Amino acid sequence: MKAMYYEAFGEAPDIRTLPDPTPTADGVVIKVEATGICRSDWHGWMGHDPDINLPHVPGHELAGIITATGKGVMRYKIGDRVTVPFVSGCGRCGECHSGNAQVCPNQFQPGFTHWGSFAEYVAIDYAEQNLVALPETIDFATAASLGCRFATSFRAIADQGRVKGGEWVAVHGCGGVGLSAIMIASALGANVIAIDIAETKLSFAREIGAVATIDATTVGDVAEAVRELTGGGAHVSIDALGSPVTCFNSIKNLRRRGRHVQVGLMLGDHSAPQIPMAQVIGHELEIYGSHGMQAWRYDAMLEMIATGKLNPQKLIGRHVTLEEAIPVLTTMDTATDLGISVITRF
Ligand SMILES: [Zn+2]
Ligand SMILES: [Zn+2]
Repeated sequence: MKAMYYEAFGEAPDIRTLPDPTPTADGVVIKVEATGICRSDWHGWMGHDPDINLPHVPGHELAGIITATGKGVMRYKIGDRVTVPFVSGCGRCGECHSGNAQVCPNQFQPGFTHWGSFAEYVAIDYAEQNLVALPETIDFATAASLGCRFATSFRAIADQGRVKGGEWVAVHGCGGVGLSAIMIASALGANVIAIDIAETKLSFAREIGAVATIDATTVGDVAEAVRELTGGGAHVSIDALGSPVTCFNSIKNLRRRGRHVQVGLMLGDHSAPQIPMAQVIGHELEIYGSHGMQAWRYDAMLEMIATGKLNPQKLIGRHVTLEEAIPVLTTMDTATDLGISVITRF
């Protein structure tokens, strides 16, 4: 198979021909029809993710068609259209049994713990517990775009943030995660404030549901600006970027008993950010992490897509080839693209 491959962190990947994967007893092999390129892939390529062993094939936001199944796989068959959460649980531990495969200690993550989907084929383990059957109405590029950012945002907003109609929600960072969060929170009836440093992203945020925007380069104190707009602070605030500044502001701009959800990754130098802990205590703030979404929660999200309440396809930017994906990956930290790039040709 053709695949994107690297042998050293931070050095340009190349396109190689590698052996086709075979399924484990509990796994499947999927012919990748579409796979999204994400900042987490960039973090992995930079060497920020301890789960990655070299050499490596990245890619974790995928959708495709099953081409081989292990002997223990009963619920899925060759030819099925599927996607999979980027965190797949083992199905056998306490976390998985409680319905929380997204924090399984034995998790399988394509593109991190194992070779991923920037390839013609990808092997997925624990298939029975984690595959999500795709309705015919959802195309592969849209389905691939759900695997990480959109699903992660759905859990962050709907489940961890418990966003309700009429609440103020602040979203810090309008990349893929942030724009998804804005769309989902608006669909749930919240008043969303989008915060970014790029006017193009803020104007797109307004198009997909934000009722107000803050350009962080033009206000002295972002948290104060949010408090003013909301008459006391956001009920829920999301750091969708993952940086010490956005994390701090996202907690600082909460109203009393507000909820912060950290979604943007905090790796490398950013792993121990400053937190206004006196305010967390005095105002009884709640701080959550959010890490992917369990396969069984996809149903609710897919229903909202099928009925048109959510339109993840609006967040897709460019369709690219596997070769064209190399510079997209390596410049991910400085990219200003609106919308996400999806590999649809191999
Ligand atoms: Zn497990
Ligand atoms: Zn991702």
